Amino acid sequence: MRFELSTSSLSIALTALFLSTTATAQTNSRYPKGLYSEGLKVLDPPNLASSAVSATSLRAIPSEIPYSCYGTALSRENKELPAINCAISSLEVFEVTYPDCERSWKMCRCSDADLSREDMMELFGMLSPNLRAQVRNLMAFKTSKSAHAYTSNEDVVVFGDLRHWTVITHEAAHVLDSRKGGLSETAVYEDAIKKDTCTADYYAANAMTRGDVKEPWAQTFVVNTFRKLGGVLKADAGCMQNQLDVVADQTDDFVKKSRCDMSMATTEGPMFERSPSEVLDKSITIENFPASLTAVSPSKTAYPSSDIVIRMKESEDEKSAGTTALRTTGWGIATSILMLQLWYMN
Ligand SMILES: [Zn+2]
Repeated sequence: MRFELSTSSLSIALTALFLSTTATAQTNSRYPKGLYSEGLKVLDPPNLASSAVSATSLRAIPSEIPYSCYGTALSRENKELPAINCAISSLEVFEVTYPDCERSWKMCRCSDADLSREDMMELFGMLSPNLRAQVRNLMAFKTSKSAHAYTSNEDVVVFGDLRHWTVITHEAAHVLDSRKGGLSETAVYEDAIKKDTCTADYYAANAMTRGDVKEPWAQTFVVNTFRKLGGVLKADAGCMQNQLDVVADQTDDFVKKSRCDMSMATTEGPMFERSPSEVLDKSITIENFPASLTAVSPSKTAYPSSDIVIRMKESEDEKSAGTTALRTTGWGIATSILMLQLWYMN
């Protein structure tokens, strides 16, 4: 079965988060800048490998592709996003398992993606198991823009050299929010925002100026998760305590459990076989994957250490910007895409 993604078949509304070092955050009187005015990257660990659960197996899937990976790889340019332009013959598909969950995940990457297979396994391994279990597929592609990520249905798609715990957690939070029927849009969370005097960061504050509660909810989830995993905030989070309490009540089961709960895990989407013209390029060595791995190689990108003392997760510092929401209608199915765009200085 062939899926043709045509521009006319899509109607898109995009939600994107932009983070930049120039941090020209918009403000309003009620949410002046957020607890972390420069963004949540202060909560990122110094390197991924130290905090990630190592994958236990990796298996190439040379002849099949998750339907959603196929569609994403061939995505055309639209007003919010550039075309991805990954030839199907360059799309690698592999299956990864972790020791803390009975399910496995299909991951897809274009052969020129900045993130290697090991990087993807490592990044995904940073999610707590029950949160990881909410996500269906992880994808990685190259981008001509700054590194960014978005969620599409239950998939997380990463562009460029993006290795931020805060970003992957933010994206997984959107999946969780959606799968649980809109935790961010409940009266209890909206009441909490009204009672509080700040949001998590400039990004959440910017979203609030547009009445978007999904982004502040996701950023609150990141802050709550950081604390529940043993992180110590240097900033006084009292100004967003009501949001933290609500999100903790809604989601602590997804943060604190040491194993995934399969009854809450997402299910795999449809797969289809590659056509003869889309057979995986022989130059791609995916067929040579080891049958199993006991450890993930350390990330080449080490984050600067910080003075934030935590047991499991550590830090760095971060940046600014705006949001948009992406609502896609394709294949007769209404699809919602939330996009987090990360602009950061190198
Ligand atoms: Zn977002």
